[in-house]
Amino acid sequence: MHTRDDIERSYSFGELAFSQIKGRSLAAVPRNYEVWYCYASGYHAELSDAVNLVLSEKGSISQDQLDTIYENFLSQSRMGEKIDVVGNRVMDEIEHVMTMIDSAAGQASAYGNDLAGATARLASVGSPEGVRTIIETLIRSTREIEANNKALEQRLKASRSEIKLLQDNLDAVRTESLTDPLTSLGNRKYYDQSIAKAVALANKAETPLSLLVSDIDHFKKFNDTFGHLTGDQVLRLVALSVKQNVKGQDLACRYGGEEFAIILPDTTLRAAVTVAEHIRRSVMTKELIKRSTSENLGRITISLGVAAFRPGDTAASLYERADRCLYAAKRNGRNRVVCETDPEAELKVA
Ligand code: GH3
Ligand code: MG
Ligand code: MG
Repeated sequence: MHTRDDIERSYSFGELAFSQIKGRSLAAVPRNYEVWYCYASGYHAELSDAVNLVLSEKGSISQDQLDTIYENFLSQSRMGEKIDVVGNRVMDEIEHVMTMIDSAAGQASAYGNDLAGATARLASVGSPEGVRTIIETLIRSTREIEANNKALEQRLKASRSEIKLLQDNLDAVRTESLTDPLTSLGNRKYYDQSIAKAVALANKAETPLSLLVSDIDHFKKFNDTFGHLTGDQVLRLVALSVKQNVKGQDLACRYGGEEFAIILPDTTLRAAVTVAEHIRRSVMTKELIKRSTSENLGRITISLGVAAFRPGDTAASLYERADRCLYAAKRNGRNRVVCETDPEAELKVA
């Protein structure tokens, strides 16, 4: 519950946050608001320090820098909260089951005592009437324990479905923690995990493995001309081209800002170049129309570098060769694919 004071305080933080956003001509989108709200409240010391550092070094703060701060300080803590919620529910469920088991154990031992008592009394009983009373008592406690067992069984069944649900929730949180929210491709963490596995497998199994890295051409200019939010939409469009041209076990990731990395297991360099060409063409043929104004923003292009696993490669050495090819593609005019056996890939990067 929020007290009147809490609510009043939240209004002043909200107003401060909004004036920061407006004063800096930033978009009033929720994630910007969240960063500035935290900053205004001072509740998150590390976030405030990070903002202050950028402001003192540069005098201003860009959307890219705000996004990084959001990623570093806010999106992760949200994930932590979700995991805490699931964790607490698991603990509650375990507590319930433990209580049920304790009470079932108590009832079983009481039943055991009833049986022992009945046996002792049967030994000394003198009349059929007495035997009947003892049997009736036994039947009653047997029914009781039967009913209790049924209740326990039902409770355990309910727990089982609750735990299954919690397992699914954890899976969803895990997937979310490995997904880039803007493009819904794998994020950098997912890339790092996947490439490590793929390289280990290639080293062991001697199957081919290729890596594509791509970077949007002149994207800074695009952002400067049409704005960062429109730039973000372009990132989604490039991601779509990537998704449409990979399949099966291929792993498409947003490596960072406007760079994508695509892991192609069981794929030779030649085949990987074909995939890269398909992605490149798919991006350049897309016409960019701004939804809000129907304005035609022209087209964008991407450059790609392609490298194939060599025995002894690490994730880093493979990436480095693909990246070197990417820069050769940039140097040679952009909107092209360069692979490591192409002559232009030989040129040294300055
Ligand atoms: P080049 O052809 O040499 O790649 O030119 P470039 O302008 O694309 O240069 P570079 O790759 O160094 O520029 C990266 C730019 O991409 C900086 C920034 O404006 C933009 N960018 C990076 N991440 C994001 C993002 O998440 N959203 C948006 N909208 N833009 C981003
Ligand atoms: Mg770049
Ligand atoms: Mg670029």
